[in-house]
Amino acid sequence: MSFLSNSGTVHVEVRVKNEFRLSEIRNSLERALLAYFHSASSLPRNLAFVPDIIQIQRQYLESVLLERDNGDGQAWQNTEIKYRFHFYMTQRVEATGGLFPAGGSGDSDDIDSVVSANHVLLPAVQFVGLWENLIYETGLKEKLLKFALSALTFSQHRVDMNVIACNRLLLLHGPPGTGKTSLCKALAQKLAIRTQGSYAYTHLVEINSHSLFSKWFSESGKLVARLFSKISELVADRNNLVCVLIDEVESLAYARSAMSSNEPRDAMRVVNAVLTQLDDIKACPNVLILATSNLAQSIDLAFLDRADMRLFIGYPGMPAIRAIYKGMLAELMTARVLQREALEAEDAEEGLLTQLAERSIGLSGRTLRKLPLLAHAQYTSSDLFELDQKISLSDFLDAMLEALEQHLAEQR
Ligand code: ADP
Repeated sequence: MSFLSNSGTVHVEVRVKNEFRLSEIRNSLERALLAYFHSASSLPRNLAFVPDIIQIQRQYLESVLLERDNGDGQAWQNTEIKYRFHFYMTQRVEATGGLFPAGGSGDSDDIDSVVSANHVLLPAVQFVGLWENLIYETGLKEKLLKFALSALTFSQHRVDMNVIACNRLLLLHGPPGTGKTSLCKALAQKLAIRTQGSYAYTHLVEINSHSLFSKWFSESGKLVARLFSKISELVADRNNLVCVLIDEVESLAYARSAMSSNEPRDAMRVVNAVLTQLDDIKACPNVLILATSNLAQSIDLAFLDRADMRLFIGYPGMPAIRAIYKGMLAELMTARVLQREALEAEDAEEGLLTQLAERSIGLSGRTLRKLPLLAHAQYTSSDLFELDQKISLSDFLDAMLEALEQHLAEQR
């Protein structure tokens, strides 16, 4: 079994509506889509917005996403393409109920919130579109996805880990707000969609390292044990793929060395328990560990030395910044906050967008995504709310630029 395909492959991720029986409609949907693909001279990425395709089947479809293996965003010529279909429905149930201590900020007084872990069954509706909306240099996301798929292929083939190193441990590191956590979640969602043939269920268990350390040290040991015993139950069933996300893994390392804590020995015990448990579950073939860290320098954690892949995620470059801005402007047009205008129609607006993007170099994706609201709040007239007037693109770009300048001034 291999999850990989060659670069002439287009993956077709078909999200179908829950109320219909997938097995009954699958073949006819596939035939209809293939006929459509073959008749089209070039293909868009996302068929959800193409109004007149396959009329009859539309009622079953939530969305159709096409993705080429190498992440090439060009319109595709139809020659020699192989299509690989992945039909899926998003899971209805939130798997959290009772399985894990309730996820949360960890600052509540409730002991059960100390070891924060969220458990979600994938593909989950809240992660739909997450992958597509994370924008990096061409090929970065695809590299990550292929890497994870290769590691799982090795597992499926029971490749001897003593002969070939393969720990199914990925580390994403880089400055805060660059989308590392989101990328891990989006990757887990992708894997759920792409590996359905091998794993009936994909689980995402998110461990918040921060919340492991609170005033409840003496109790956290027990909670860590409970958390991992639940994870082990999931892992024991080889039909499950279990993705364990450890956010801000440096806080584990930090806690280990933090002798300033009031209860260092308890802290140490908890951290060691987590690390030992992680080491144990890592040995299982159906576990993928995804860790994020905001520290650029190496983190002093033994288990991270064995990471199969360390990927640096930095601030977005010019093309990514422009794409993020364009996506946000398009969303505001769809939501009818802005007047609908072609984004590249006017040279003047193109110039403003370029100026905006140039001034945004060195800012994180998280900061960029906050700008439209700031711009709208600060620089547009308040009667707009009452009049329900739509703002023109050039006015809004001006407002964005002002909001950006103010943000930059505040950073100094
Ligand atoms: P990190 O884990 O690196 O601190 P997060 O995953 O919490 O970052 O990302 C914060 C937000 O910033 C996300 O909601 C995401 O939408 C946005 N974001 C960050 N980087 C990017 C990017 N390269 N492209 C699109 N959105 C991004």
